[in-house]
Amino acid sequence: MTKLKYFLVFLTLIITVNAMDIFNFFRKSENTETQDTIGSHLKKVNPSKTNWKEKTDEYWKESMTPLQYNVTRHEGTERAFSGKYWDEKRPGVYHCSGCGHELFKSDTKFKSGTGWPSFYDVVTKENITLKTDKRFGMTRTEASCARCGAHLGHVFEDGPKPTGLRYCINSVSLVHSEDIETKAE
Ligand code: FE
Repeated sequence: MTKLKYFLVFLTLIITVNAMDIFNFFRKSENTETQDTIGSHLKKVNPSKTNWKEKTDEYWKESMTPLQYNVTRHEGTERAFSGKYWDEKRPGVYHCSGCGHELFKSDTKFKSGTGWPSFYDVVTKENITLKTDKRFGMTRTEASCARCGAHLGHVFEDGPKPTGLRYCINSVSLVHSEDIETKAE
């Protein structure tokens, strides 16, 4: 009986730890060299003429780095201060790393101290879908790409003026305009 009790406690612990995403937390790191390949699948297509909504899970898995796939297709989170763009200062536009859609401009990027790229505004509201995320016992607003559905990050109401918003975005969900090459017809 005691053994069974210990086993059940152990089982509950394993399920809880998994649910809290702790294992993923340790796994969700990728060096910036690997992150340099992010967006390379966009070279093969004309992003504005592609039907991104019909892309399969297999397509995304093959086209993306493991971390990028985990974050954008399965609402993961990269480790703070591990991404390519948290301290990026080059001027330009940040595109969706899944479909190349324009999402943020460098002039709305600000230093948040969180370790994730942070913006106080979007290029246009239509390009981003917002929805309530109640995972992990928290109520947050999830931001995703309106064109391909990629998970980007979350939006908080503690940002700077003029919007007061903080779009806290994973680096792997983004490609800076200087790092992106797309096939134009
Ligand atoms: Fe997208």
